[in-house]
Formats: sequence, structure tokens, C-alpha cells
Amino acid sequence: AAHPAVTTEQISETDKRHTIHPWADLATAPTTGDLVISKGEGYHVYDSDGKRYIDGIAGMWCVNIGYGNVEIAEAIAKQAQKLAYYTPFGAMTNPLSAELARVLAELTPGDLNRVQFTTSGSGAVDSAIRFVHFYFNAIGKPEKKHIISRLESYHGSSYLTASLSGKQVDRTYFHYMDDIIHHISCPNPYRREPGLSLEAYCQQLLGEFEDKINEIGADNIACFIAEPIMGSGGVLVPPTGYHKGMKALCEKYDILYILDEVVTGFGRLGHFFSAEPVWEIIPDLITCAKGITSGYQPMGAVIISDRLFDRISGDNAPEAAYFTNGYTYSGHPITCAAALKNIEIIQRDNICEHVREVGPYFIERLKTLEKYDIVGETRGNHLMACVECNISGNPVAAEDKDITAARTVDKFCDEAGLIVRPYEALLILSPPLVIDKEGIDQLVSILAQSIEQATEELKAKGLI
Ligand code: PLP
Repeated sequence: AAHPAVTTEQISETDKRHTIHPWADLATAPTTGDLVISKGEGYHVYDSDGKRYIDGIAGMWCVNIGYGNVEIAEAIAKQAQKLAYYTPFGAMTNPLSAELARVLAELTPGDLNRVQFTTSGSGAVDSAIRFVHFYFNAIGKPEKKHIISRLESYHGSSYLTASLSGKQVDRTYFHYMDDIIHHISCPNPYRREPGLSLEAYCQQLLGEFEDKINEIGADNIACFIAEPIMGSGGVLVPPTGYHKGMKALCEKYDILYILDEVVTGFGRLGHFFSAEPVWEIIPDLITCAKGITSGYQPMGAVIISDRLFDRISGDNAPEAAYFTNGYTYSGHPITCAAALKNIEIIQRDNICEHVREVGPYFIERLKTLEKYDIVGETRGNHLMACVECNISGNPVAAEDKDITAARTVDKFCDEAGLIVRPYEALLILSPPLVIDKEGIDQLVSILAQSIEQATEELKAKGLI
């Protein structure tokens, strides 16, 4: 056991007794077994009994440069000794926070040069919306309050960001802000109407957006928020031209575009930010988190266009000019030290180039899994991918047995030493960016073997 004094069973029991996990299924929470992860190295993690796994999900889309990085550990330790913390409020700053803001302004496209630091992705999205509302009030358009988001999206776990998110499972027992937040369809090419071309599908989605704008009235709409590729909603890759088309509609109707790059930022799609190089858009605000520190410290940030910021600051500031948003730990020196070192490593080790090289190989290798009957589709972009199970043959929506299929594959992956993330009928994959071709081959071969084992089990149960 990794911990000398405590057995895996004891850790598990203690955890079940006291911890409420994120997104806990309360029906099973007190009884389900836990996997205790206690060590990581490169793209592998180890459980408390010493079993090694390929980490197919980079922790939670975040450990981009991999585990056990001594340089980051040292940067954190050094900063903790020098200055663990000082307030970011008022006129105070610290050298690392100022430098990280400069670096982020340089890495983001266009005039996105104003950075507010948060401690999470939820905080970044929350801050973006608060800025947008503040902005329209400050420029004398207080009626511009409504927000358009998308079904199946995920933008966080604060009340505001959960209101933006569009998963049905997240919409029971809460009182979300549905009076000003509207959800339109998310692009899901695999589940589009059979026979519809991708071009026509894209036009359909753009049309739905424009109809929604007209229904609410552009004068009432503040912003549109979107993940570049919807992540936890199922790695939904939009058709070509989707983001460009949505951005053009936002410009036509004076609606701000928030691109939520919490998952896609810092190399996952082969670039620090995907907005310009992949989607050919410059949004008005970008939110990021996760890969900003590769998970070595909790952090998020919203990066805002100079054009917006300048319009409501300095000589242009409104009468009540306090933008009362920010956190005790905004620009935390230790967190900033981790982020700066992480970005330096991504640049120095050409990690974005590496992703551009191995990413297409990953997607191509996953495609070979489509030969199995229980696999409906594999899809993704660089190191953000998924396998969608479809044994029901239903082209429009997953059924219960498709979900059972995914869970069965997941169980065999676990046994064979590969961690994937099951979500409905999907197995989501987002390995650390440092994974090499050999690691990709191993990952895909475990998946193939697990799919074969699952197929046998599903047959034995009469599900196929
Ligand atoms: N936005 C997106 C696109 C995410 O995927 C997530 C988390 O997965 C968040 C925001 C929320 O980030 P956090 O969990 O750090 O608050």
C-alpha cells in the first residue's frame, strides 16, 4: 500500500462515511467501492495497492503535462517559502500574478488582454457573466441580460454556471435562472437527423440560434456561451463553420461571445487556445482553467477584450464603477508560480507540436474500433475523444442498453489498467498530452480487448 499506516479498505470506508463527491449519486454513494489513486508518473497513475493504470482522462481533462513533474513541484515549494500569499485587492499585486496576466494576454488572440484570476473554471465562467452584465449596465443597456447557452453543455457547479449548463440530470431539485438563461441545441453530428448533410445540419443549428435571438429580442440578449468542443456533454465536435457562423450572428445582433476553453485550453487541441487556429474566431471573452496549471494547483481565469474593458474603465467608467468581482485567492502567488512553470514547460518541450503530431494518430487508431458491432462511432479532435456505444441501433438517441454497454466496457478497461470516463453511452478519453504513440497503442489495444470482453458479456445477458 502506498500509505504505510492505512489500508485501501480503511481509506475507502472513511471516504464513504465522510466525503460527498462531486456529482454524487446519492442512491449509491454510501455503498459504491472507491478506487484510491495515490501516485502518478507521466501518463500513468497508481492505485493504493500499487496497480498501474494508463490515465485515459488526465485526472479530469487537466493534467496536461503529466504527473510527477519535479520542476513544477520545485516552483511551488520555492514560492511557498518566499511569499505564500498576499492580497490581490486594491492596489496590491505580486510579481507572478502580473507576469502570468501578461503571458495569458500574449497567448490569447486579438485584443484579449485583460485577465481576472479565479480559483476554478466555474469561477472563470461566473466572472465572465458578471462582467458581461456589469458591462451592459455600465454602457446604458441594462435590458441586455439574457444569455443563450446550449443543451448538454457544462460550464460549472456554482449556481450561475450550473444554470448555464444544459444537462438534464443537473436540472432536478434546483431552481436555476431559467428566466434569463435559454438553451438551444448543441451540435451532435452523430445524432443528427438521418440523411441530413453536415452543411445542412450546420445551417439548421445557425437557424435555430437566429430564431431564438428573434424570439427573445436582440436588445435583451447579453451573450452566447459555448465550449469549442462540448466536453463532458459527450465530446461533441461541431460541424465545420459552426463557431464562425455563430460568431457572425453574435456580431450581427450585438451579442457577446464567450468561448469556454476550460477543457480545450493549454494544448489539448494542439494549441494554447483553440479559438483562432482551430475555429477561426476571436471571441469577446475566453474562460480557462484546468490545463493552465496542469492540475498542480487549482486555478482559472477569464480573459476579456481591451475593447470591452476600455469602454467602461478610466475616463469611460460609469458612476458606480466598482466591478465587485474577485476572490481572496485571485492571482495566488503559488498558483501563479505553478501556471508560469507549466506554460514554460509546454513551450520549451513543444507539447502543442507533440499534440499536433500524435493527436491525429490517436483519432485514427480509435477509428479502428468502429469495426466492433457495439461501437456506434468514435470521434474527437487531437487528444479529446470518445467512443460511443450503440447496440440498440437507435440513430437518434442512446437507450438504456447502450449505457449498459459503455459501463461494461469501462469495467473491463479498469481491470486491464486503463482509466476512461463513462458518461451515458460514451467512454470519454482525454489522456495527458505527454502520451506517446506507444502509450496510444496500449490504450487502444486495452479498449479493443475490453470491447471484445464486453461484447461476450452483453451476449450472455441477451442484450445483443
Ligand atoms: N467549463 C467547462 C467547459 C468545464 O468542462 C468545466 C469543468 O469540467 C468547468 C467549466 C468548471 O470548471 P471547475 O470544475 O474547475 O469549476
